[in-house]
Amino acid sequence: MPTPDRPLARFERSLAGLARKDRLRSLGPAAGLDFTSNDYLGLAADPRLTAAVADALARGVPVGAGGSRLLRGNHPEHEALEAEAAAFFGAKRALFFGGGFNANLALVSTLPQKGDLVLYDALVHASAHEGMAAGRAETVAFAHNDVDAAAAEIARWRAAGGLGRVWLVAESVYSMDGDVAPVAGLLALADRAEGFLILDEAHATGVLGPGGRGVAAAFEGRENLVVLHTCGKALGVSGGLVTADPVLCDYLVNRARAFIYATAPSPLVAAAVRAALRILADEPERITRLARLVAFAGEGFSRLGVTPSGTPIQPVIVHDNARAVRLAARMQAAGFDLRAIRPPTVPEGSARLRVALTLNVGEADVTAMLAALAEGLRAEGLLSSGDAG
Ligand code: PMP
Repeated sequence: MPTPDRPLARFERSLAGLARKDRLRSLGPAAGLDFTSNDYLGLAADPRLTAAVADALARGVPVGAGGSRLLRGNHPEHEALEAEAAAFFGAKRALFFGGGFNANLALVSTLPQKGDLVLYDALVHASAHEGMAAGRAETVAFAHNDVDAAAAEIARWRAAGGLGRVWLVAESVYSMDGDVAPVAGLLALADRAEGFLILDEAHATGVLGPGGRGVAAAFEGRENLVVLHTCGKALGVSGGLVTADPVLCDYLVNRARAFIYATAPSPLVAAAVRAALRILADEPERITRLARLVAFAGEGFSRLGVTPSGTPIQPVIVHDNARAVRLAARMQAAGFDLRAIRPPTVPEGSARLRVALTLNVGEADVTAMLAALAEGLRAEGLLSSGDAG
């Protein structure tokens, strides 16, 4: 009889076989200039968020919710946040989740029903994939940002006898490419198909649309549009806010396992997100400042032969994994916190540096970063010495 493996052996073997093993690093103040976080508006360390939490504590708001929203965990802070978020985004209703990942998983796994079709953009986030895996609808990918391809998939599905609802699943801004989805076209397709659009605005919330209200802000309130705004990126805190028709919000409260069976987010987090929304409403110039920084950096990227994405997420695709790692290490050594992104996070052969622009840096920092990047690209033979930078 073969000796059975020790219980941990298969995991050790699997880890040993990984091309790379990720480790958590606490970077501390020596991390270098922030060209990597999603703290787009520089709010994560804003004293007003800290003050909002201190104020909530002083008002007796507890750290822990103590249970699910459906049990004793529902707190006035959650409800106040939901009312304020609905008002801010111009939505009929908002529902707060502990994280964007959980919220997206809940939407995609709960709303589409057996017999329905989930038609998802080929580059949607892992959270949407988890939702599809947990749900009961059929799932089909469509070519990235290609509305016509999505329409063709719907026609194919109908021709093959598909009778249920169609749910388009997409993001406003793709997290590794920084490109913007054709949201109006996707929604028009959802209308034509008498289906729905579930749109993850994670990287657009606080960044794009009027006053940072997202790419779909103009369409908010449509009954076939379900939007996810995450609170851990531009809003500087954590959590996810779903804006949707009240019927769908009620349905999620009653049916979404990721909502029902999870401890409610800390009411202090809700208080901090409320403060972040107030800052967005009071200081729309932050969004303009970020847009100006993106445009400024875009000119520099163009000079390096990198096509500007037009959003705070700028990929510098170098294809080769080792090269991406070398470049990132070089940038970090020069004081710029920039990370290499490799497969499977991005498609094979498209390893890249992901540059994120936030209000934690200014134009001079961007200029210095671009100069270091130019040097790095030259050292890798990706930029001829005559090229600007
Ligand atoms: N959707 C997208 C597109 C994301 O980039 C992320 C975060 N990486 C999430 C959802 C998950 O949100 P959270 O971090 O709030 O769980």
